[in-house]
Amino acid sequence: MLSLMQTRPLMISSIIKHAALNHATTEIVSRTVEDTIHRISYAAIEVRMRRLVRVLQRLGVQQGDRVGTLAWNGFRHLELYYAAPGMGAIFHTINPRLGTDDIAFIIEDAGDAVLFAETSFVGLIEALAPRTAVRHIVMMTDPANMPEVKLAPNQTLHCYETLMAAADEDYEWPEFDELTAAGLCYTSGTTGRPKGVLYSHRSTLLHAFAVTLPDTFGLRSADRVLPVVPMFHVNAWGLPFAAPMVGAALVMAGRHLDGASLASLMNSERVTFSAGVPTIWLGLLQHLRASGARLDTVKSLVIGGSACPPMLIDVFASEYGVRVDHAWGMTEMSPVGTYNKPKAGEEVLSAAEQRQRRLGQGRPLFGVEMKIVDDTGATLPRDGIAFGNLMVRGHWVCQRYYGDNASGGADESGWFATGDVATLDADGFMTITDRSKDVVKSGGEWISSITLENIAVAHPSVAEAAIIAAHHPKWDERPLLLVVPKSGMTIDPAELLASYAGHVPKWWLPDGVLVVPELPHTATGKLNKLALRTQYGQHFLNNAAE
Ligand code: AMP
Repeated sequence: MLSLMQTRPLMISSIIKHAALNHATTEIVSRTVEDTIHRISYAAIEVRMRRLVRVLQRLGVQQGDRVGTLAWNGFRHLELYYAAPGMGAIFHTINPRLGTDDIAFIIEDAGDAVLFAETSFVGLIEALAPRTAVRHIVMMTDPANMPEVKLAPNQTLHCYETLMAAADEDYEWPEFDELTAAGLCYTSGTTGRPKGVLYSHRSTLLHAFAVTLPDTFGLRSADRVLPVVPMFHVNAWGLPFAAPMVGAALVMAGRHLDGASLASLMNSERVTFSAGVPTIWLGLLQHLRASGARLDTVKSLVIGGSACPPMLIDVFASEYGVRVDHAWGMTEMSPVGTYNKPKAGEEVLSAAEQRQRRLGQGRPLFGVEMKIVDDTGATLPRDGIAFGNLMVRGHWVCQRYYGDNASGGADESGWFATGDVATLDADGFMTITDRSKDVVKSGGEWISSITLENIAVAHPSVAEAAIIAAHHPKWDERPLLLVVPKSGMTIDPAELLASYAGHVPKWWLPDGVLVVPELPHTATGKLNKLALRTQYGQHFLNNAAE
C-alpha cells in the first residue's frame, strides 16, 4: 500500500524561497573584486536570482544547459548557484587555479553554453577565448568596472549588471524531477584529465540537510558563516545551500584568503563559523601570532580537504578559544562524508584518548555508508587497526562521471572506491592513513605518510611537511621527509627525527630529511605529491650511488 503523504520534489530553489520568506533581512556580505563590501538580504537576492533566470534565458540558456563560472565567493556567484538550477539548467563551477589547458578542456568537456567570469580573470578569459566554443561571456561586475576583453569574433562580451538591469523579475520557480542535474564540478585529480561530477537537486538538498545537523556543521539562524573554501571547489562544501536553509548569514571573502584579510573580515562581520583547508588556517594562525590579533566572535572552524594537523586543533582551542572540527569528503561525495564531533559515552575516556579521537576524520553522516576492503575486495574488520581501501555509497555519492566517454565510478551495488586508505572502528570513527597512491610501501609493509607528516608539523620550527615514498634499493620504497621552516627559523634534521621517538615504530622513521623553502600545492591547496615524487622520488637511489 502506498502512503498518503505528499511527495514534493526536492528543489534547490525551495531553499532560497524559504530563506527569502522566513529570514528576509538576514544578509549576504561579500568582499568584491573591487575591494568594497557589498550587502544584500535573502529577500532581495531571491528577487535578483529570478531576474538572473530571465538573463540566462535571454542568452539562450535552456534546461539542461551548462552555465560555467570562473568566480570567487560572492553574491553574484551565489545568484548563479540558484538561478541556473532553479530554471532546470546546471551551474558549472570551474577552478581558476587549474592550468589554462585543463580549464579549456573542462569548458569543452562540459559543453558550457555561457561563461560567467570575475574581472580578475580577464587574462585567463583572453587566453581561453580562441580555444572554446562558448558564445557569450559575462563579466560579473557593473558598467563602471567593466574591463576591456579581447574575444574571438563570434563571441559576445556582456556586463552582468547591465543584463540584470534590462531583465524582469517576473519569473516563478518551477517544480520538476528532483533527479534533474543541478551542478557540475570537475575533480582536480593530480593524474589524468579532470572528471566531471554531476549533482542533482535531490543529492544537493539531502547533503545540505545532513551537514546542518548538530553533529556536523551544527548551523543555526544566529550563525554568520564564512565559507573560505571556494565556491569553485565542491560547492564550498555545501554551505551556500546549508546557510540559507537554516537562515544563517553568509560572509563571502572574495579573492583575498591570506591570514590578515580573513582575520579582519571575521572580526568586522562577526563571523561565528568558517570552513577551509589546512593551508588557510595555518596562514590565519601565523597572522594571529605575528600581529597579536584575536578572533572576537568565531566559535568553530571546520578543517577538511587534507588531513588536519593536530597542532591546529590544539592551538586554536587553547590560545584562541576556537573549536576545530575535522571533516573528510571528496568532490564525488558533494563533498562531506564524515565529521568529527564527540560521541555519547566519550566522557569516560582519558583526555589523551579523547584528543586522539579528534585527530581522525570522524563518523559518517546518516546517508553515507562505508566499508574498508583489501586488494581482493574482501571486507576488513572495523577494529580501528586493520587498514584498507575505503569504499562509500549513499544519497550524495557519485554513481558515474559526466560524459559519454568517462570511465570509473561506483560498482553495481553503488560502492565507490575513494582512493583513500583508512581504518574504521566499532564506534564508526574513520581515520585516513593515506591516499592509496601516497602510502609508503616499505618491504611490503605500509607506512602512513599522514601520520609522519603530523609529527613533523607538531615540531615548533616546522611550517609545513610532506612525506613521499622515494624509491629504495633494498626496501622498494622508504619515507623521505621534506620540511619548510617557519620564517626566521632553522631546522636541524637530526633533532626533528628525534621528535618521532615513541610516536611510531622505529622502522617508520623517514630515511632522509630535506629542508626546502616551499612545497608545491595543487589547484585546490593540497600538497602536490606527484610533483614532489617526480622531483625527489630517486633521492635514495641517487644518494646510494654517490
Ligand atoms: P577533492 O575531491 O579534491 O575534495 O579531494 C578528495 C580527497 O581529499 C579525499 O579522497 C582525501 O584523499 C582528501 N581529503 C579530504 N579531506 C581529508 C581529510 N580530512 N583528511 C585526509 N584527507 C582528506
